[in-house]
Amino acid sequence: MSENRRRAAAICMECGNALAVQVCPDGSVRPIGTGTNCSCGSDAFQVLESSGFPDGDEKRSRHEA
Ligand SMILES: [Zn+2]
Repeated sequence: MSENRRRAAAICMECGNALAVQVCPDGSVRPIGTGTNCSCGSDAFQVLESSGFPDGDEKRSRHEA
């Protein structure tokens, strides 16, 4: 019931770096794989609309490919 986090793409507001993030139900955004901040140290991100990033889909397609 608590697994409402979704993946999205985001752009760092500081350096413009594009990265994958996890968006929590409370609206907090956490970059995947780099801790809570961008590699430049910023924690401000612009989340892009995600239309197809369900959790696990990445793993599945990697498995089949
Ligand atoms: Zn950055």
